[in-house]
Amino acid sequence: MTDGDNPNWFAGSPLDRAYDRRGQDGFLNDRLADPDTVLIPLWRGDPLVAGEDAAFLSAAARAELPADAPVVFLGMRGDTAHFAVDLSGAADHPERAPFADLGRYTPIRDAAGRIGRDNLAMIGHARWLFEWHRKHPHCAVCGAMTELQQGGAKRACPACGAEHFPRSDPVAIVLAIHDGACLLGRGPQFPPGLFSALAGYVEAAETPEEAARREVFEEAGVRLAGVRYQFSQPWPFPSTLMMGFIADAIDSDLTLDKEEIEEARWVTLAEARALLGGGSVDGLFLPPPFTIAHQLIERWAGDPGS
Ligand SMILES: [Zn+2]
Repeated sequence: MTDGDNPNWFAGSPLDRAYDRRGQDGFLNDRLADPDTVLIPLWRGDPLVAGEDAAFLSAAARAELPADAPVVFLGMRGDTAHFAVDLSGAADHPERAPFADLGRYTPIRDAAGRIGRDNLAMIGHARWLFEWHRKHPHCAVCGAMTELQQGGAKRACPACGAEHFPRSDPVAIVLAIHDGACLLGRGPQFPPGLFSALAGYVEAAETPEEAARREVFEEAGVRLAGVRYQFSQPWPFPSTLMMGFIADAIDSDLTLDKEEIEEARWVTLAEARALLGGGSVDGLFLPPPFTIAHQLIERWAGDPGS
């Protein structure tokens, strides 16, 4: 497979991030002044949705923006610049936020399965940047206030010169397979009936494959043999890079870490296909299609040799 085949929502942004131009003097201001420029409004990370897609603003809407609303540059789609504006500070309720008359600020998980994939990828990018900038006003080296640069692609410290870049937190998510069945589990915080692939953060000085083996053993007591990378997903909740694996389990006995995994079970290929088709198996259901867990199960169900 090539990465053009990545089935994951939030991946595959249509934008050119214009790395070579976004730092040039005047480029971003000129783009902001361009009447064709597109502005993507977010309120507390949630997009404005009208009908069945995201609602974007024209450059003329800049005149109505609060002066202190953060703006970031996302990239170019052909000759059209795309920026995003964070309206979180302008209202304490989404229905009172600017431009709420054009649609409804909708929790992004509710919007994810409805709005266009290209638009969702851009919204995820914007959400990621705003959250990182909100949480990282200070220099991690000297503590001084930092400045947003290159339209939000980095922050720089005027006191010590350090540069800081929006981070991605890597997670390995694994569909373990044994004897024609896949291992799914549920955390104590999951909605009743929801089962998913096991996942955990990659720790310091660890490869994602090592993290995959460690997590499945820690959480379910299952050792893995072959661990095969499938695809990845940028997951803006707030900044997780999900790396998806399918792996062969050496045996099927489960020893659960009950703090992490309340319940786990082996789901047969026939059961997985029924669940993917919208059927029910013992009251169990899968994460929605916009999650990488769903895509891993679908990959395996479509090609059990993955
Ligand atoms: Zn500094």
